[in-house]
Amino acid sequence: MRPLEGRHALVTGASRGIGAAIAALLAKAGARLTLLGRNRAALSEQAQRLGGTVHLEVCDVTRPEEVRRALAGAEAALGPVHILVNNAGQAQSQPFLKTELELWQRMLEVNLTGAFLCTQAALPGMLSAGWGRIVNIASTAGLKGYPYVAAYCAAKHGLVGLTRALAIELAQKNITVNAVCPGYTETALLEESLARIAERTGRSVAEARGTLARSNPQNRFVRPEEVAEAVLWLCLPGSGAVSGQAIAVAGGEV
Ligand code: NDP
Repeated sequence: MRPLEGRHALVTGASRGIGAAIAALLAKAGARLTLLGRNRAALSEQAQRLGGTVHLEVCDVTRPEEVRRALAGAEAALGPVHILVNNAGQAQSQPFLKTELELWQRMLEVNLTGAFLCTQAALPGMLSAGWGRIVNIASTAGLKGYPYVAAYCAAKHGLVGLTRALAIELAQKNITVNAVCPGYTETALLEESLARIAERTGRSVAEARGTLARSNPQNRFVRPEEVAEAVLWLCLPGSGAVSGQAIAVAGGEV
């Protein structure tokens, strides 16, 4: 009943939203957990909700030194990281011609370089343990285009590319690498996007909500727990033959 007993899972961006749901499900499956994010108070609250063996690391995934320190701290506390979920991410929008270099770089740094840094720091431990699961939370924006989010889309497509390349490189190491690609999911990130759309278009938040929900053929938003179920499945012993995949959790949108 606890198929991840004995495994150490590190979830980035675990303080709320999709990352919090993933952490909760992996904990329920028996994993020891490291929760990583930039805000200690939010992580502590999340840890209290979870109970069990939970370690916290305060870290900005875009900063190489902080990432190295966080992974070393996690390994010192709970042993090698067997499961790495690269979930920390941000979504900013701008029409392409108004996209400043700063926004472009920030989207690439947090959504793509962050996963690169965390993976590079966690991988030696997985290799020495002889078992590993890397799950990158990309997006349907890693599989298709959307207007006004060129930087985010480029970063998430990059994350899917990283997933596919690393899956092949690690294929004989008992380590799988997959991406989970949610459609619009009920979180703070979505609320911020809806507020921005309303502000820029003069439509109400409720109208913006309806428009985005209709892009999902099920005419609704995905729930964070539904994304977490896909992540859990990829971490189970039985999914060892699944690697290099980008799995949409989007009600059929892709
Ligand atoms: P939230 O904004 O609700 O949560 C994002 C999490 O990432 C928070 O825990 C935040 O914590 C953390 N985070 C953000 N920036 C950094 C950073 N630089 N370093 C460390 N942690 C960071 O977003 P969601 O739960 O919605 O999104 C989670 C992932 O899912 C993201 O990668 C997002 O792109 C992806 N996704 C979301 C969709 C949606 O509609 N919600 C759809 C498709 C994909 P803190 O700010 O405290 O550091």
